[in-house]
Amino acid sequence: MSQAKVNGNVAADEDYDAVVVGASLAGCATAIMLGRAGVRVAVVEQRPDASAYKKICSHYIQSSAVGTLERLGLLEPMIDAGAVRSRVRLRTPWGWIDPPAEPLVPSGVNLRRELLDPLIRETAALTPGVDLFLGHTVSGLLRDGDVVCGALARNSAGEELRLRSRLLVGADGRGSRVAKLAGVKSKTVPHGRVAYGGYFEGPPPSGAPDASFWLLDPDMAAAFPTDSGLTFYAAMPVKEHAAKFREDPVKALVELLGGVPDGPPIGASRMVQPAQGKLDMTNVAHTPTAPGLALVGDAALAIDPLWGVGCGWALQSAEWLADSVSPALASSEPLDAGLRRYRRRHARALRGHAAMIYDYAGGRKFNAPERLLFSAATYDDGLAAVMEAFGTRNIGPGRMMITGMPRALRARARRSLWRRRASAPGSLPVSTPAGGSSSSRGGR
Ligand SMILES: Cc1cc2nc3c(=O)[nH]c(=O)nc-3n(C[C@H](O)[C@H](O)[C@H](O)COP(=O)(O)OP(=O)(O)OC[C@H]3O[C@@H](n4cnc5c(N)ncnc54)[C@H](O)[C@@H]3O)c2cc1C
Repeated sequence: MSQAKVNGNVAADEDYDAVVVGASLAGCATAIMLGRAGVRVAVVEQRPDASAYKKICSHYIQSSAVGTLERLGLLEPMIDAGAVRSRVRLRTPWGWIDPPAEPLVPSGVNLRRELLDPLIRETAALTPGVDLFLGHTVSGLLRDGDVVCGALARNSAGEELRLRSRLLVGADGRGSRVAKLAGVKSKTVPHGRVAYGGYFEGPPPSGAPDASFWLLDPDMAAAFPTDSGLTFYAAMPVKEHAAKFREDPVKALVELLGGVPDGPPIGASRMVQPAQGKLDMTNVAHTPTAPGLALVGDAALAIDPLWGVGCGWALQSAEWLADSVSPALASSEPLDAGLRRYRRRHARALRGHAAMIYDYAGGRKFNAPERLLFSAATYDDGLAAVMEAFGTRNIGPGRMMITGMPRALRARARRSLWRRRASAPGSLPVSTPAGGSSSSRGGR
């Protein structure tokens, strides 16, 4: 990484157009996009090591963020670093929902955070206009009346930086200190599962390079083939089943994944890094803007990781913010209109998804509409395509319901009719209902 740009010496007081707190996915993506728009940016990161990475994360980046990765110029370097492109096969209680033969959406991306985080940080550090301050923790905000106008950061030697800016961006993750210091409104929604996982080497799970996801109603397990021939095996059991994971996480992980229907070859694999575990994943949403302030990534919305949306939304929210505010930051126009634009865009894109995720996060079993959608998608390719577009966050819940529900009802009716005809005395063999492929999907 360019030494000139990292920990650059600045006077104790320095002016920037934007100061970004946190040099992980959301912070670096924001800095890259603002820097390229001609904005002068400081990025402040508490960890001193340029190759630091987020240790608790299954790393799967949803297809909805692939356009953002391309725009950041990161997709190709990620592929060069060994990233695996995958779609998701869903094992429901009614059988498999395979990715439809004709994809409507791009594949997601798998690259361990160990490789991704240094890559995006280096890209940020090399972006003209961006200065990266590693090993500095933001502990206070600068204010002009009600308007946030910068941040106070300290390094381990106690040296203080006062970074003044027109915009302060909190990209400091779950439990955002910036959000707390700014006093923005927050909403929390309880979470009823725990998460454990680890990287394994061994035979690839069937369906690789596609990821497999077992919806065990209400537990969850997953296998994500990734770079270097590794597979990330993950489990998110409800809290009632958490004791055995706390006692011996690796044994419990291997037992759970070894026992799922059509399970992966985890018993023949070897864990190559210490297991990850997280007990508290309360959903936390902050109002994403205040005068002089914007929050991106987990700082704005730290949501149930079950659906693997956090990394993608960290990158996408950075893009929405940069697009909304760079016209103001690159000129002397007022910032407020840009912040309003960002707040609306964030809400429009994520509010519906977030409401559905909150509703399932407590650890409940599937409700009737979910049972209908998941079961019908095991034998209706068109519905499977709609569900894929929704699960990969390319369409919102409104569109999924409007197109998916009628389709699910029709598919179920066709299937019942077909079954009645097939079981009628003296009936001749009949072909499967249109759009179905139940035998290949293992549907029941
Ligand atoms: C168990 C689990 C599994 C997950 N699996 C997936 C998955 O498969 N796919 C997916 O998309 N998402 C997943 N996520 C979510 C994903 O990890 C996060 O959504 C994503 O990392 C958010 O990125 P971010 O940049 O907003 O925050 P973070 O990656 O948390 O980065 C915050 C940065 O801010 C820095 N910082 C914090 N405070 C300060 C301060 N005061 N001063 C300076 N710097 C500071 C931190 O050091 C850090 O570098 C998972 C999460 C969990 C818990």
